[in-house]
Amino acid sequence: IYRETIDKIVEAIREHHRFLIVTHIKPDGDAVGSLLGLSFLLRRLGKSVTACTQDPIPTTLEFLAGSESISHEVPQPYLYDVAILVDCGDFPRVGSSFAEAVGRVPFLINIDHHYGNVPFGDICWVNASASSTCEMLYHLSSALSVPLDREIATHLYTGLLTDTGSFRFGNTNQKVLEIAADLVGAGAEPAHIAQQIFDSASPQRLKLLARVLSSVAFHADARLATAELSLKMFDETGTSSMDSDGFINQLRSVKSVEMAMVFRESAEGLVHISMRSKGKVDVATFAQTYGGGGHRQAAAFRSSGDLQTVRAKFTEEARNYLMVNSKGSTV
Ligand code: 5GP
Ligand code: MN
Ligand code: MN
Repeated sequence: IYRETIDKIVEAIREHHRFLIVTHIKPDGDAVGSLLGLSFLLRRLGKSVTACTQDPIPTTLEFLAGSESISHEVPQPYLYDVAILVDCGDFPRVGSSFAEAVGRVPFLINIDHHYGNVPFGDICWVNASASSTCEMLYHLSSALSVPLDREIATHLYTGLLTDTGSFRFGNTNQKVLEIAADLVGAGAEPAHIAQQIFDSASPQRLKLLARVLSSVAFHADARLATAELSLKMFDETGTSSMDSDGFINQLRSVKSVEMAMVFRESAEGLVHISMRSKGKVDVATFAQTYGGGGHRQAAAFRSSGDLQTVRAKFTEEARNYLMVNSKGSTV
């Protein structure tokens, strides 16, 4: 069903020369994997490519080939024929300092897999049933007839690995594992990639995790778990929000927990609320109510206010949501 859209993208790529590739703020494995994977694919076709993202690349993803060449400067729109946004659920997720410039590139292509995405772009390819943007780019590489090499295979495998929670989440299926196997055949090394991403943290990160875990509270018969990350915790452990990636999965690891929330305080006076679920609970719909979004089982939104007030308010909202939405279903 996406054949026509993919054909249009292939045509736009063939017809143009100067490409800007952009991904979302606070880039994760799928964001960086798809940013670099697509950049390398286009360079193999002889295109001129700039890969950029507003926020820094997490240190655990610095092993990816080309990560050092990703620009964090606001792009100059007149230098490009086409901008391709990858893994970027909503246009504003390119970041407040990038949005205006990216929006002025004459032709916009949106390649993404977020559910509830507000459509944008001259070509909009959003496949919410894809595990990751990297899975979509795997198909694009074959449509472009670019053979996978070790570097591109490593980029794309990284997105599959991280967006499926190491091939554990509900988006893991036969198709995903077959693509992963093909990427391994093309040179991606699963043990090496997993070690870089999951076993390369700093000692300070573990200290931070200890504090977050001591803030855990359970609600609604332990079906809801909440925790917080305060500026004080970051300060005392010498860490930043980049060190807290994945902490929320610890909350979901508890058998009874169907919904997990982590409230993260930011210097701008905003609280970032990360949500994860398991079973039938849809956190994307909850996050959308408050101006955020994401996937059924991983979503986020932001709220102004102080940490304790925001935590109390949305814990209560989540408790109610959980009660209403699980009626009659056994999760
Ligand atoms: P995280 O908890 O890691 O910040 O976000 C969880 C998921 O929700 C990620 O897949 C992220 O891309 C998505 N997400 C976070 N904030 C927003 C938002 O404001 N809008 C949309 N559409 N997705 C978001
Ligand atoms: Mn992402
Ligand atoms: Mn993704």
